[in-house]
Amino acid sequence: MTERVITLKSFFEEARAGRLSGIRCGQCGALALPPKEFCPSCEQRRWEPVSLSGNGTVSSFTVIRIPPRGRAAEAPYAVAVVKLDEGLSMLGRVEIPLEALKTGLPVKFRPLVAGNQTLIAFGPA
Ligand SMILES: [Zn+2]
Repeated sequence: MTERVITLKSFFEEARAGRLSGIRCGQCGALALPPKEFCPSCEQRRWEPVSLSGNGTVSSFTVIRIPPRGRAAEAPYAVAVVKLDEGLSMLGRVEIPLEALKTGLPVKFRPLVAGNQTLIAFGPA
């Protein structure tokens, strides 16, 4: 039996290419995002890679007006918790005009790539 290891590095490599990848527990079918060692539902370690659609809706968001160092030019911008169609929630930047942003808004995964940095982000669905 070969063990496929899904690391945070491969997650970001996939994300950079515009693909959102998750992991599914081979024991109970629970979905998660890497890295995770054991399934929080059944405590097994039988992860299998799974492709996620990247489609979801905004559950909540925060507008960042005072950004961390190096991001001053980008503020204000929004960071949202997005509930993916597969049921997982993830945090990411939202590239939608702030006045149009609201909870329940459909969004689609669209990574922000700058140099060798990949930022998890969502744009209009
Ligand atoms: Zn499980």
